[in-house]
Amino acid sequence: MKNKVAIVTGSTSGIGLGIARTLAKQGCNIMLNGFGDKNEIEKIRTSIESEFKVKAGYSDADVTKPDKIEKMVKDALKAFDKIDILVNNAGIQYVSAVEEFPLDKWEAVLATNLSSAFYAIKYALPVMQKNDYGRIINIASAHGLVASKNKSAYVAAKHGIVGLTKVVALENATKNITCNAICPGWVLTPLVQKQIDDKAKQGGIDVKKAEHDLLAEKQPSLRFATTEEIGGLVVYLCSDSARSITGTTVSVDGGWTAQ
Ligand code: NAD
Repeated sequence: MKNKVAIVTGSTSGIGLGIARTLAKQGCNIMLNGFGDKNEIEKIRTSIESEFKVKAGYSDADVTKPDKIEKMVKDALKAFDKIDILVNNAGIQYVSAVEEFPLDKWEAVLATNLSSAFYAIKYALPVMQKNDYGRIINIASAHGLVASKNKSAYVAAKHGIVGLTKVVALENATKNITCNAICPGWVLTPLVQKQIDDKAKQGGIDVKKAEHDLLAEKQPSLRFATTEEIGGLVVYLCSDSARSITGTTVSVDGGWTAQ
């Protein structure tokens, strides 16, 4: 990973931040991206640089906007001269029955969780093809493989990203560019904490019980996967040992999709 360059979308929080830190620990320079408090983001950026002795940049690109993603790719190229790794991680959730699902929430979930990955791949691929090297990793979900009630937009977007992964893998199979999707089960991040808090409120139960119920419903291991575990898998998929792994999904879900 030494001196490789990675763009990780949605890396100001949760899984993306875990992936960015794990890649940086291996010596990879990082382009961070995502929303949040500017001072906090600057702290994240500088701590990655000082802790891991790598270069870290930041792009405030809204990943739903193709022109902003194109600029993020150009900025990464300007700062680091190449792009070896692209991790499409930015994502949001919205929970509602189909007939009540607000149209704007449908559009937002599809744009953030699916179209964003298409835009980033579209703009980063020519750089990778020129260098004859690339590792594209899409953070899908167990919901890229199976469904749950009340998550129509999320499940559609995550199934979509699994399809996109396969097409990109096929189109680049002879070019030393791989494209894979990671399918995490529950990972305790702000995105999931909100669902736990909502569950506690709706059920009139405490947060610990809501956390247990959430796991018990889907994840046989009864523990959350960690952001470091997802980061470790990203590092493996970027390694030479994983060169023949392309166009596939890898689950990190404590048995969720084995049921
Ligand atoms: P999170 O809310 O902690 O982080 C989401 C990140 O995406 C943040 O950095 C946020 O700023 C960024 N983001 C959101 N909208 C954006 C936009 N328009 N432009 C740029 N950045 C944007 O969530 P998380 O749980 O870490 O989720 C990360 C990814 O992992 C998502 O794609 C999610 O669907 C997926 N995932 C999460 C879990 C889980 O249990 N947490 C499980 C499976 C898949």
